[in-house]
Amino acid sequence: MKICCIGAGYVGGPTMAMIGFKCPDIEVVVVDINEARIAAWNSDKLPIYEPGLLEVVLAARGRNLFFSTDVNKHVGEADIVFVSVNTPTKTRGVGAGKAADLTYWEGAARVIASVSTSSKIIVEKSTVPVKTADAIEKVLRRNCSDPSVQFEILSNPEFLAEGTAIEDLTNPDRILIGGKDTEAGRAAIATLASVYEHWIAKDRILCTNLWSAELSKLTANAMLAQRISSMNSISALCEATGADVQQVSRAIGTDSRIGPKFLNASVGFGGSCFQKDILNLVYICETVGLQSVAEYWHQVILMNDFQKQRFVERVISAMFNTISKKKIAVFGFAFKKDTGDTRETPAIDVCRGLMADGANLCVYDPEVEDKQIYQDLGTEKFEWDHPSPRSAPIPKTAIAISHDAMEAARDAHAICVLTEWDRFKNYDYQAIYDNMVKPAFIFDGRNILDHAKLREIGFIVYALGKPLDP
Ligand code: NAD
Repeated sequence: MKICCIGAGYVGGPTMAMIGFKCPDIEVVVVDINEARIAAWNSDKLPIYEPGLLEVVLAARGRNLFFSTDVNKHVGEADIVFVSVNTPTKTRGVGAGKAADLTYWEGAARVIASVSTSSKIIVEKSTVPVKTADAIEKVLRRNCSDPSVQFEILSNPEFLAEGTAIEDLTNPDRILIGGKDTEAGRAAIATLASVYEHWIAKDRILCTNLWSAELSKLTANAMLAQRISSMNSISALCEATGADVQQVSRAIGTDSRIGPKFLNASVGFGGSCFQKDILNLVYICETVGLQSVAEYWHQVILMNDFQKQRFVERVISAMFNTISKKKIAVFGFAFKKDTGDTRETPAIDVCRGLMADGANLCVYDPEVEDKQIYQDLGTEKFEWDHPSPRSAPIPKTAIAISHDAMEAARDAHAICVLTEWDRFKNYDYQAIYDNMVKPAFIFDGRNILDHAKLREIGFIVYALGKPLDP
């Protein structure tokens, strides 16, 4: 059997590496139009940082796992074609700012149709709006010149989380496969299931109809983001009342109906998926006339914006309403720990909010590249979704980058912790404090530090959702 995956990104790369690693009898080729990305996949400096990924790639690469830019050849030869291209939010025209942009998906489908001389199973790995399989089927059928070629479309959304992708792919909670309830559909589902059965128990492979599988992925991301926004809303209430959001999380997480995971308050959720997928869900609801449902889910995003803005305002008010020309060290820029991905990271909005008020930032993140930070904190006009007096052009001179936390904090007035990297917990905060301007502030946007110890050292500490320092 030969598998080809179109798209060698955060999903296509690791998922195919795992299939190649676990299935030595299957040839797996990951193709992409981005030559630099493919070159990096073929080197020892992979294009994405993910714990354990390099070991998996090295075990299978050159044996039965390959990365190539020859899209036509490998798609043409494959029995199963995964499509794992990006599906960003549309930026213009109808549905701009909400609907999924399926340009890349449609482009991939046209390539598949034009180069196919044998029947294939087409697997939706990207997150797509419900009913996308219908549209893709039309593109495939009407662009393939060989009438004997059959395409069977399956939805097989990916639930991995960046930072834990290898663990998630090794031991997934479930594999979801949606397909048609026809003889050909059932056969295609069985073929795809047989790939995963190389390492995953049969009872973890769930089969549904196509639309349920497509909608399940959007729903899963919406529910996960909603949990974060729910706890973040409670964190604001905690600060206003003297309750402690971590104590509340523990108390409610022991209820087996709620469960303990994903209940941490934070400076806000980020990543390429949560916001995009909720917006997509909102758009779908609007197009089918379910305005109230659309508004319900949109609140999850508005709460996330509120949390980021609230954090910035807390920093400014704690520092006597004046951060102009003050150095603030930013610990962490990636949207979560163990990844170098900054897509939609809350650090972008928080940093821009601080810079717009005149602060000089020194950013330190162990995995994010300097040029990415400069690009994300560009000088264009910055505006919150909510009207804010801080919407003003940001001078580029306000950003510095350090590769050392101690250096980043030297002569700073404050530290903002924006990513929950484990290493941040183990620093010598006494030494850091000694080199800072006094009073020295720490704003812990992830609640990962030992706040009592920091207070003992002399820091003024702000922790999300916790009683404030007097
Ligand atoms: P990505 O941007 O990292 O990768 C997509 C790749 O597809 C790019 O390298 C791009 O060059 C390539 N591509 C686009 N059109 C192509 C074409 N016609 N031929 C060949 N290559 C093409 O995106 P990603 O983060 O891997 O996400 C991919 C999909 O998976 C999205 O729909 C996303 O919502 C979904 N998803 C992402 C995650 C995540 O954690 N990142 C998790 C689950 C699902």
